Amino acid sequence: MTVRTRFAPSPTGYLHIGGARTALFCWLFARHHKGTFVLRIEDTDEVRSTHESVDAILESMAWLGLDWDEGPSLTRHDEGWEEKGGHGPYFQMKRGEHYRKHLEQLLAEGKAYRCYCTPEELAAKREQASKEKKPVRYDGRCRDLTDAQRRVFEAEGRKPSVRFRMPQEGSTVVSDEVRGEVSFENNLRQDFVIAKGSGVPTYNFANVIDDHLMEITHVVRGDEHLNNTPEQIHIYQALGFALPKFAHLSMIMGPDGTKLSKRHGATSVLEYRDQGFLPEAMRNYLALLGWSNPESQQLFEAAELVAKFGLEGCQKNPATFDNQKLLWMNSEYVRKLSPETLVDRARPFLEKGRLGGVHRDALAKAVKLEQEKVTLLSELPGRLDFFFHDAVYDPKAMDKVLKVPGAGKVLEELAPALAAVELFAAKPLEDRIRRFCEEKGLKVGQVFHPIRVAVSGRTMGPGLFEMLEVLGKEKVLARLEAARKLI
Ligand code: GLU
Repeated sequence: MTVRTRFAPSPTGYLHIGGARTALFCWLFARHHKGTFVLRIEDTDEVRSTHESVDAILESMAWLGLDWDEGPSLTRHDEGWEEKGGHGPYFQMKRGEHYRKHLEQLLAEGKAYRCYCTPEELAAKREQASKEKKPVRYDGRCRDLTDAQRRVFEAEGRKPSVRFRMPQEGSTVVSDEVRGEVSFENNLRQDFVIAKGSGVPTYNFANVIDDHLMEITHVVRGDEHLNNTPEQIHIYQALGFALPKFAHLSMIMGPDGTKLSKRHGATSVLEYRDQGFLPEAMRNYLALLGWSNPESQQLFEAAELVAKFGLEGCQKNPATFDNQKLLWMNSEYVRKLSPETLVDRARPFLEKGRLGGVHRDALAKAVKLEQEKVTLLSELPGRLDFFFHDAVYDPKAMDKVLKVPGAGKVLEELAPALAAVELFAAKPLEDRIRRFCEEKGLKVGQVFHPIRVAVSGRTMGPGLFEMLEVLGKEKVLARLEAARKLI
């Protein structure tokens, strides 16, 4: 058997953390088994689905490195997306003929029926039921209409929806790869709508038809769909389709123990990109949301993750989204890059700052001094700006370090000493500055701090001597002079 998984987002918004985790697990499972990863767009919600959401979802997946074998192309043309794969179309709104055909079959076999209740009538009944504290369920009014009754409704111009006839006794067992066997009482379920009055299928129906026709072997998705699975199983059975394997992934919680949502901060994948996270760090972090390996390993190269991933490592218990851990992971990945690559990866942020025009090698030299401390790519412009543009003096640093007795004199006397240093490199600079302290009978702090603030504008930053070396003699002398004038 060749494994085929699919990610089936509804394009009604951006790709959020939960959706990205689902997409990643589907992708990992397919790649682990050398199978096929299908991307299907479930756009049957005509009101809320948008092209922009499709774009955002595709862009998010591409950023995370989750490539799909079948589905829409990454970029949209005037006429829409091109599609690749032998099981298309991959947009549900283009698959009407498949749904119609199977709908007709269920109707002909009496496994589904037309329901003429209007939305207003159904709403009134629901309201009544909740007033009487009865279960809010469809009451089966149209279950067994006679032809004559049907004709009356048709004559009234009512547009029927189609409902699936659910068994009313016994139970339905979902055999889930993560959750084990989960049993649902049938008498708590209702005859649910599989096609709306407009003819557009509902999620539960379209999803089953597509998973069958697309030959999906493993349905891997979020926990919130476990409760839809009994309905879907009955549709599979009514049409004589073999069941795929189901795997429902644990819910993701915020640190306060409630379901992860906007309240907890950024939820969209692209927001994380824009904050300066690396996609490989994000992917690594998402992989640990509901999956673990026996060695409790935390950091995985992509290929290693693919090799080690399996549904047996997926846990039932909710996972907690921990932003601190994600930040830590990002800094680990930042550290692993060569300075040149880090510069390349941070390019959009450098351009947004004032460093777009600076040569890559020059940036790399400066980045090297700060790399250990970087958590997010977005920090780079702030950390590196003073290497390439005049220092912006932090008023607090000025007051504390430069506007104190003696600081001006230090800068003044030091300048000629530094001007005389032939090889303007960290080691000779350190030797010279330390000797300067001795000659003048000053503590190192009385000299180091003013130099630092004078050349960089602040009290924190890279190692002093390395920083001076990267800045170069000309800039250092000019800034000592500029700072002295400011005091
Ligand atoms: N369109 C559904 C969603 O976005 C897909 C659920 C499924 O994978 O079956 O939640």
